[in-house]
Amino acid sequence: MRTAEQNQELANLLFPNHHTSVEELFERYPKRDVKQGEMILRFAPSPTGFLHIGSVYTGMVCTKLAKQSGGVAILRIEDTDKKREVENGISMIVNGLNGFGISFDEGPIDEKNQRGEYGPYMQSQRLDIYKTFAKDIVQKGNAYPCFISEEELELIRKEQESLGVRTGYYGKWAKWRDASIEEIKEELGKGTPYVIRLFSTGDINNTFEMNDLIKGRVTLRENDMDVVLLKSDGFPTYHFAHPIDDTLMGITLVTRADEWFPSVPLHFEIFQKLGLQQIPYAHFSPLMKVDNEGKSKRKLSKRKDPEADVSFYIDHGYPKEAVIEYLLNLANSNFSDWRIQNPEKTYNDFTLKIEKFNKAGALFDIVKLSDICKDYISKLTAQQVYDNSLEWAKLHNRQVEKLLLENKEYCIKIFNIERSGAKIRKDIVKFEDCKEQLSLFFDELFPDNYEDIQERISKDIQREIIKEYKKIYSTESSEVEWFEKVKDLSKRLGFSIDRKEYEASKEKFKGTVGDVAMVLRVAITGKTKSPDLFQVMSVLGEEKVMDRLDRYISKMV
Ligand code: GLU
Repeated sequence: MRTAEQNQELANLLFPNHHTSVEELFERYPKRDVKQGEMILRFAPSPTGFLHIGSVYTGMVCTKLAKQSGGVAILRIEDTDKKREVENGISMIVNGLNGFGISFDEGPIDEKNQRGEYGPYMQSQRLDIYKTFAKDIVQKGNAYPCFISEEELELIRKEQESLGVRTGYYGKWAKWRDASIEEIKEELGKGTPYVIRLFSTGDINNTFEMNDLIKGRVTLRENDMDVVLLKSDGFPTYHFAHPIDDTLMGITLVTRADEWFPSVPLHFEIFQKLGLQQIPYAHFSPLMKVDNEGKSKRKLSKRKDPEADVSFYIDHGYPKEAVIEYLLNLANSNFSDWRIQNPEKTYNDFTLKIEKFNKAGALFDIVKLSDICKDYISKLTAQQVYDNSLEWAKLHNRQVEKLLLENKEYCIKIFNIERSGAKIRKDIVKFEDCKEQLSLFFDELFPDNYEDIQERISKDIQREIIKEYKKIYSTESSEVEWFEKVKDLSKRLGFSIDRKEYEASKEKFKGTVGDVAMVLRVAITGKTKSPDLFQVMSVLGEEKVMDRLDRYISKMV
């Protein structure tokens, strides 16, 4: 054991020119004036060049909980791993989240600018702060320099494995733990690189209790590892930066991914050894996915699942609000009932409750997400569908962008089909689908091949139907009148207009009025399924309808 004087000497030896004190830092970052119930939360991603949908989930939860409590949402960029760093990593996170309506009160705005009084909000700009605490913790006798090389660490690991004991740098294996000042001076004199390690006094056989706001009360084993706090390049490890940053930024609850839960004992010890007050935790379970044909569950993976990447939603034009609604559903399953009861409200009016979070891991299901998207788009006006489709097309499809811009009124009419009345269309999942929606109305997008219905109705009969229909077609009539005309035509051509009658004596008929309508549908839309045919024809207009009918006949050689 070193004396207090020796610890002081060691701290000065290691950080000779560093004079900022912890007290000065607390003056620079005064305690926030937090009212009862207000939450000061942070979202702390690392800029890796990839935005996981799980980050949107965590970022959304953090900002929503903070804002609904009247508190503060902070974005902190954890850029201490220089190997993983990418260019424009910050803008990618900020813009990616902004795209989903997620914004922060404090933190970086782009690569260069940040807002807030508790910054800098990028860890790489806080090295001086970590140094202050590193000097302080060494001075307290709770940390020490360790000069061990990678090779030596590897040898220790091998020996531990051969003895069948826990691997790691702890207890008697931690050879620099009890080194004398002379030994340390000698290595410093040689210029040997070193890290600062925690002087753990925990005992793996001891347990303690903690209350995680999502997991509930849990019993954990104490930490006994002398983990690295400050790396040889002066950058902190996550374990060291977390208690320091969250304390100085005045965080009231650490909301973070479940993967950090095993480190809780270590973090408890570091808080304690730094002399900082422990901040409560809420660990979110990860987004899961059903795998192996429904037999097992696994984490939504960046490598295996395209839907893990936020660009998937942007590229396909998923409505961002619907994605957020789905994520809210995963967070608090009572959201779907609330949505039914409050159809007119926006999701901002929903109160997210931390105690209602799913403990087991929320199942991410793209089919359910698609249903929510369909519902969401079905409630938009034609103008809104147009605007969103244009926004998507501008970035992803030149041809569609041009059509939308040059035919605005026509496109709005197209998007207006089945948007009101008893039958509301729910066939658009994402704005990429607008291409399919428009294809029917623009010759340049109209499919070359028609769905084949010859098995049900011969080519000759189809020709006859179309020839006769051309004679009676007019755009003025109402849907009811139009259908009466189609029924008359069907009767005249030997089709039944009554399904029961047809089923009773099929041999008497060529088919039913439904078959006649199907021929018209395929001729006009190319497909056996389409939006309401009467409305489609009204939007197309007489000239185009006639063209389509002629085109079908000419293609049907
Ligand atoms: N940078 C850490 C991560 O991306 C943050 C964890 C935390 O929220 O504390 O996993």
